[in-house]
Amino acid sequence: MNKADFPIFQKYPNLTYLDSAATTQKPSSVIKGITQYYTDENANIHRGIYDLSAQATQKYEAVRGKVKDYFSIPHLEEIIFTKGTTEGINLVAQSFVLPHLKAGDNIVISAMEHHANLVVWQHICQQRKANLRVIPINQNGTLEMTVLDKLLDERSKLVALVHISNTLGTINPIKEVIKKAHQKNIPVLIDGAQSILYPDLNIANFEADFWVCSGHKMFGPTGVGILYGKRQYLEEMQPYQFGGDMIRSVTFEATSFAKLPHKFEAGTPNIAGVIGLGYALDYLKDIDKYAVNEHLKKLTNEATARLLEIEGLRIIGRAKNKSGILSLVLEEVHPHDAATFLNEQNIAVRAGHHCTQPLMDFYQISGTLRASFSGYNTMEDVEKLVDGMKGMKRFFV
Ligand code: PLP
Repeated sequence: MNKADFPIFQKYPNLTYLDSAATTQKPSSVIKGITQYYTDENANIHRGIYDLSAQATQKYEAVRGKVKDYFSIPHLEEIIFTKGTTEGINLVAQSFVLPHLKAGDNIVISAMEHHANLVVWQHICQQRKANLRVIPINQNGTLEMTVLDKLLDERSKLVALVHISNTLGTINPIKEVIKKAHQKNIPVLIDGAQSILYPDLNIANFEADFWVCSGHKMFGPTGVGILYGKRQYLEEMQPYQFGGDMIRSVTFEATSFAKLPHKFEAGTPNIAGVIGLGYALDYLKDIDKYAVNEHLKKLTNEATARLLEIEGLRIIGRAKNKSGILSLVLEEVHPHDAATFLNEQNIAVRAGHHCTQPLMDFYQISGTLRASFSGYNTMEDVEKLVDGMKGMKRFFV
């Protein structure tokens, strides 16, 4: 993976893009693929008898096959296209957990969840007088696994856990958590929003019951995402939204629903988005993810070592098993001022709470400056970040 594949870096050769955890840049094949769909292939799917519609349907459904192969998902019907991670989690909350959630039950999350994997669980717990239990973390940003055993019991209806923290970069031991939960017959949802470059992204092997992710964080377009769910659960779940495309037959008296996966894809879906996602998966398929991970490790280690030489700079999240995400706090400099300063040097980073406010409370900070690397970043980008932070220190402190 390199910058030449991504047109934005030709448009802005001086851009140091360090915000891939928010959204990745898009390779030209994805951009061209979406343009080609709208230019040459546009038609609505699933309903038309005419050629264009049949071809669009085939192209849309073929992406389900690409998702199946890419993530090693056992069955095509287990793949639901959503508009992103957030929608996937809401779907599982409303259609899987809420109908069975009773007063006194509990849902287990972790202290490092993105608001997308927190607020909806809190909301449905409040609705039903159930309890939200939180797996604590230590100062390094690692889950306190010994506490987990005490949190899981016969009233636990779901464990909802992030695989890779968007703020700390921690890679959680999801296999171990899933095993512990399954020993007590508790299903597990994994938030895989930040996982796309993880080298062994094999959902069947992880044995997660649900997995959610977003196209725009995996080199594809915005407005599209994937929900994987085990067939036995999806079969028994009620639809999330109702309307066209998700029915088998409708009368004024009653409606029967379509089979999986279409039961969960009401209305005209994001056809161009799904097709774009297919091109992103084609791009990713040809990438050596082990090599990309080695590269990311080098960038992260070098940046960590060099940044820690700056007096007054702290890195929030020092787990041993970490991805290419660095959350920085520079004493006496507000993260928004820091990001504005870096922007003056064409360095794009994110500042704030990163949709993890309880995590900010835990570390007793208002926010961080987050630099996140992807496969297209280089040592030169690390240099620029380090120089930028040093310049900032001279300017503000
Ligand atoms: N979970 C994590 C870990 C994330 O990083 C994000 C986005 O930053 C989300 C969930 C929400 O993703 P989306 O906004 O694409 O639905």
